[in-house]
Amino acid sequence: MRHRGAAPCDRSHVLKSAPSYKIANVYTGVTPAKLPDKMPAAVESSPHACFALTESLDICYCNSAWDRFALENEGPNALAASILHKPFLQFVPDDLRLIYKEIFQRARALGRMQSLDYECSSAQAFRVYRMQVYPLRPGCGFVVMNSLVIVHPHTRAVCEPNDARYRCQLGLIHMCANCRRTLRMDEPETWDWIPAYVEHPRRDVTHTICPFCREYYYGAYLVPKKQTG
Ligand SMILES: [Zn+2]
Repeated sequence: MRHRGAAPCDRSHVLKSAPSYKIANVYTGVTPAKLPDKMPAAVESSPHACFALTESLDICYCNSAWDRFALENEGPNALAASILHKPFLQFVPDDLRLIYKEIFQRARALGRMQSLDYECSSAQAFRVYRMQVYPLRPGCGFVVMNSLVIVHPHTRAVCEPNDARYRCQLGLIHMCANCRRTLRMDEPETWDWIPAYVEHPRRDVTHTICPFCREYYYGAYLVPKKQTG
């Protein structure tokens, strides 16, 4: 599958290594119900957006940096007040739900932090965040930290909005939930960078994952499909 219209992930702009707090050690013996009171200063005052999940992946805590991250990237619907006590996976695009489940299952099974880079660009800037999933003691859930690791101006070729070119027969625009490029309907292997669609989100956008992002960002967590027959 050719990947056109997007710059590769340029590592020359890596800001620094993401922080690696020994969160799992800090939390030994903490129960989910006590998490908000027991959150160590390293997490509460961290400039990186952190949240905690119960073992069944319900959101049970967000640090103060979370709301800043939410407003910059997702909008008011992602503020802590709106997402606390809700299932984390309900905020994950359908195409990524199995991959995220796999990340948490591996963190639990292996008993160590799992890391995933994902793109979360704005119309102006190419940005990559690193999600680090720390398993707490079995039954006590997880702490998740999101750190900005790459940022630079976009180098992708810019395309203009064109509903005739990008709208499917159902009237929907198909955008990658990771890189936010848009699928051409007349060339279904081509995904274009259209800042206008990113800057002004539309109700008629449906999110999926483009082939490049599925392999490049999530390939390590792809679960092979079971053979049938
Ligand atoms: Zn993509």
